[in-house]
Amino acid sequence: MNQAIRSDMPLQASLLTAAAPCSPQEWLTQLVWRFQTGISQLPRYMGLGAEPYQQLLVTCNVPSAVIGLLQHQRQTLLSELLAMREQECQELEQWLSDYLLPDAAPMARIIAVASMGYNHLWQDLGLDTRQSLRELMQCCFPDLVQMNSQNMRWKKFFYRQQCALGGNYVCRSPSCDECVEREGCFAPEE
Ligand code: SF4
Repeated sequence: MNQAIRSDMPLQASLLTAAAPCSPQEWLTQLVWRFQTGISQLPRYMGLGAEPYQQLLVTCNVPSAVIGLLQHQRQTLLSELLAMREQECQELEQWLSDYLLPDAAPMARIIAVASMGYNHLWQDLGLDTRQSLRELMQCCFPDLVQMNSQNMRWKKFFYRQQCALGGNYVCRSPSCDECVEREGCFAPEE
């Protein structure tokens, strides 16, 4: 049974400043800690549901955190917003799962959930930089990093792929090179 801790315990700070994760399991642990400390902007249970989230805590050996009222309210609001886009989220999760390394579950769901957010993906995940997101992707979805060789913004890249497969998202041009949205899809995220 996990022991409940306060979300401002100093133990978490040392984990957040530790060496960069280098395995899917370490990345999952990082994301859980960043969720528990309120750094990330994700719905309740990271969008996984209560039971899978508890299982993830056990797998990552992370104790449950006691979150504040504001954090709780924010997570609840994000859960309500996610519910309105659940089908889209599941489609993206399914697509991501095809590229996820076997030992990285439930990373596909977490990335899909964060992609439904309103900030840059790396920000909603609570990462420090966009480069950190690329390192996470390299570790868990190496084939996607190869496919995104032009370093397109990740959310745009996901939807570009969905568009190519005939999904809900439709690009404004058959070619990125000729598209008026190009700057928005490829510009650096600051
Ligand atoms: S640049 Fe245009 S075609 Fe390329 S992904 Fe963006 S919207 Fe789609």
